[in-house]
Amino acid sequence: MWTGKTALITGSTSGIGLGIAEYFAQNGANIVLNGMGDAAEIEANRARLEAAYRVQVRFHGADMSQPEAIEAMFASVNAEFGGVDILVNNAGIQFVAPVDEFPTAKWDAILAINLTSAFHTTRLALPHMKKNQWGRIIQVASAHALVASPFKSAYVAAKHGIAGLTKTVALEVAELGITVNAVCPGYVWTPLVEKQIPETAKARGITEEQVIQDVLLTAQPTKKFVTVEQVAALAGFLASDAAASITGAVIPIDGGWTAH
Ligand code: NAD
Repeated sequence: MWTGKTALITGSTSGIGLGIAEYFAQNGANIVLNGMGDAAEIEANRARLEAAYRVQVRFHGADMSQPEAIEAMFASVNAEFGGVDILVNNAGIQFVAPVDEFPTAKWDAILAINLTSAFHTTRLALPHMKKNQWGRIIQVASAHALVASPFKSAYVAAKHGIAGLTKTVALEVAELGITVNAVCPGYVWTPLVEKQIPETAKARGITEEQVIQDVLLTAQPTKKFVTVEQVAALAGFLASDAAASITGAVIPIDGGWTAH
């Protein structure tokens, strides 16, 4: 479906981002992977996608908290592929603590990675999309772009912020064949969720099993984790021609969580 197009997915060395990268590779796009992690594991994933789907897959390890690194990544991608056609802003981190104990460095890092990086990637991707009169920008936001939970002040602020960025940019480019949307997953079983279980147990004074049952899945009426594949398929739909009239939308995929 996207043969000849280039998709850059931030934070795609793991979890949801890697699943979205696989979906776009499977459907013909060249892929730029980005993120942190073990170099050998990243290279194994890069080579696997390239071989399985016969597309070009590159990796760029830009730290999404660093604007200069994001600019360097775009310079390299523009030189090789001519530009980014499908931008998925997915990189994200989490930290759980009461607001009056929240480490200021963690606040700054979450805002930089989960929100400000999307401003930089968007401003750098748009000139190519405008020239082509075609582009897709998809934010992997969160149910926390729509509702809050205690002890996640930075994350909820960043995700609500990305909903605002989505709507604003969508309006700016609405007549240019470019759509901008946010997908809002509920809990998806990935390393990001696994890591916050002990922190949440500590913040709430409960066991880790209670966190899974009484905090995470309580929020989701389906009582099931959302899957990476489901989020990837929604992102894929938003990048398809059938979704050309969907823009500025902040779309839950959360097992009914935000229906409460
Ligand atoms: P994950 O930890 O598996 O993946 C996060 C990715 O971001 C990794 O590739 C990591 O290397 C990358 N990353 C982190 N810091 C980075 C940095 N400074 N620069 C570049 N890359 C960086 O987590 P995930 O659950 O797949 O999360 C992906 C996105 O989905 C995040 O934005 C997260 O907020 C969102 N989300 C996750 C869930 C969930 O339940 N897992 C729910 C809603 C939204």
